[in-house]
Amino acid sequence: MPTPPLDTSSLYAAREPIFPKRISGRFRNLKWIVMALALAVYYVTPWIRWDRGPSMPDQAVLVDLANRRFFFFGIEIWPHEFYIVAGLLVMAGLGLFLFTSALGRVWCGYACPQTVWTDLFILVERWIEGDRNNRIRLHRAPWSLQKARLRVTKWTVWLLIALMTGGAWVFYFTDAPTLARDLLALDAHPVAWLTIATLTATTFFFGGFAREQICIYACPWPRIQAAMMDEDTLTVAYRDWRGEPRGKGAGAGDCIDCMTCVNVCPMGIDIRDGQQMECITCALCIDACDQMMERTGRPKGLIGYLALSDETAERAGAKPRPVWRHVLRPRTILYTVMWSGIGVLIVLALLMRSQVDMNVTPVRNPLFVTLSDGTIRNAYELRLRNKQHDDVIYELGVDATGPLVLAIEGEEAQRLIVPADQTMTRRVYLSAPPESPLATSETTPLTLTARDPAGAAAADVESVFHGKDAK
Ligand code: SF4
Ligand code: SF4
Repeated sequence: MPTPPLDTSSLYAAREPIFPKRISGRFRNLKWIVMALALAVYYVTPWIRWDRGPSMPDQAVLVDLANRRFFFFGIEIWPHEFYIVAGLLVMAGLGLFLFTSALGRVWCGYACPQTVWTDLFILVERWIEGDRNNRIRLHRAPWSLQKARLRVTKWTVWLLIALMTGGAWVFYFTDAPTLARDLLALDAHPVAWLTIATLTATTFFFGGFAREQICIYACPWPRIQAAMMDEDTLTVAYRDWRGEPRGKGAGAGDCIDCMTCVNVCPMGIDIRDGQQMECITCALCIDACDQMMERTGRPKGLIGYLALSDETAERAGAKPRPVWRHVLRPRTILYTVMWSGIGVLIVLALLMRSQVDMNVTPVRNPLFVTLSDGTIRNAYELRLRNKQHDDVIYELGVDATGPLVLAIEGEEAQRLIVPADQTMTRRVYLSAPPESPLATSETTPLTLTARDPAGAAAADVESVFHGKDAK
């Protein structure tokens, strides 16, 4: 039988607008607290000052792109120390794995910027246009002066929030008070304006209009998270064995089919249909259903956090295992150990790092030069990075199995003054006396040293000396 042609007209479905109803309860309160903290940290952080001395920026958290450095309170990260940032990113990833394996998409439901800003935009929408029923009525109503006034007011407040969001972002990349003055005087760098405009537009669109579509279609995390979850993961679920059959008549289960859990859901789904990819585990449906259970004199928890491994026992009337048994299990312990291990390594790396960095590269063309008196001379490119906030005089030295004379191009002494927070590159020469063991050998290992005479910093670098037998 021939296959009927595919009806491509049905492959696209326009977004059905969602009008989440206001709800109160313990999970809603927790979401308010997380939202307030996240917004406060985001907007306030660039304005925190941190004294690092006269020649240094006094912003506590600063991504100094021009000088390729990252400041985080008392910690300074230079470009060659990017492994610390990489370690922090790995820790963030492991933290996400840990929370997902224990509590499902708790990141999505509470702390993801898309969730936080969408929640804020919905709050504004509710203040201006009213709760769910008013918003539905307004949405269906034809355009009128009243509708235009409410819409323009809402969009204006959204735009201001979006502008503040984009505006706050650029303050992380330069001195915030200076940039704020430049922005007010319309004298800021075009990159700053462009970044603010881009972030304002994306925040306005993502938080105001795209909302759950970003989570469902644009974000890869819902697809990846399944790999971190197992039958012990606690996630939001409907206890159908308690709730069904729905209704209010005789013989009905606990679910009175009031639809409140559906009406409060920011993703527009019905948790009673089972676990769905769209569910961000915000737990607002738990608050909604608990209220209904309280009102109708039934026990709370018809919708609640539930692990698959407890379902059979619960269906048989047994109690679920305590929460700690779900949270403390080999997978979460392994993630915690890995997370802590990387954290300890980062702390050790920060504590043990030197205030000076030295790189030495032997010049290979030619490997050595024979001077008129028979002295064999090797050249090296030396790079010294002074991470202290004062100029430092470094004494250079060499440690080898035989006599070597060290000279710095353009300098009379074996010392270099490296300005505060600067990197200096110089050519250094090592010379072995004629017919000495180093001059006649193929290669000899050596160590170049840089010492801050005050004892604050020192660096050693291994290299080699090429004698006249070198090939
Ligand atoms: S189903 Fe419940 S937990 Fe999932 S997104 Fe909707 S309200 Fe949040
Ligand atoms: S809120 Fe509870 S009682 Fe109401 S429809 Fe949802 S599950 Fe049923």
